[in-house]
Amino acid sequence: MIQLAMVDFDDTLVATGPRFRVRREALFDRLEHLGFPRARSWSVHHEIVDRELLDLWGFGPFRLGASFRDTYYRLCSQAGRTPDPDVAMELEALADGIESPPPLIPGALEGLRQLVATCPTALYTQSSYPDFQAYCIEASGVLEVVPRQRVVITPVKDVDAYRRAVETVDGGPPGHSVMIGNSMRSDVNPAIEAGAQAIWIDSGDPWHADHAPPIVEAIPRADSFAEAVQMLLDGGLGVRGRAAGE
Ligand SMILES: [Mg+2]
Repeated sequence: MIQLAMVDFDDTLVATGPRFRVRREALFDRLEHLGFPRARSWSVHHEIVDRELLDLWGFGPFRLGASFRDTYYRLCSQAGRTPDPDVAMELEALADGIESPPPLIPGALEGLRQLVATCPTALYTQSSYPDFQAYCIEASGVLEVVPRQRVVITPVKDVDAYRRAVETVDGGPPGHSVMIGNSMRSDVNPAIEAGAQAIWIDSGDPWHADHAPPIVEAIPRADSFAEAVQMLLDGGLGVRGRAAGE
């Protein structure tokens, strides 16, 4: 029976990915206009520059402008073109505003309220900038439903981080928990490896770094967090109900 629900934040409760995606598409549009084929720009950005900058800056919004600028410089270098510093600054500015808090996904907060009323719940989120992430969580209104002491922010989500997070919120054995999140790589697979159950939220067009094959077959899938909560409440995973007064 489930004794703890662990809930992801970005692209589970708030719409983070689309704000990155729109800006990256604007970058590829502009680079195409400058004569760089879209497929080439995409490959240089996703497979080289963003990976390098993730190692330097970690998860969060602060590498985006740098990745836009560096993609341009890298493309120029590969094409034997002299980069224009004004263009580099213009491309970097396409990332402006990405550090604003992401908006709630419709129905997410209501779903969270329903879940909290039924099952002990914690927020489990990944960021290399815990203060910034805490600011985004507060701005979203989630702390009105899940208290701050039940929010775990980790720089990396792997199986050990999952076990530690469950322990941090006194969640009992990891095997009695369920992870609800949009990332197969960071939410679902580590939780299952820890013996937990998981519901994968199919957010449609996941961030490229969230792609990973599931480590087991037949993972429950929902189109939204609200739908995942409904699946739990309908008893599909055996949520342990709270006793009166608990
Ligand atoms: Mg997420």
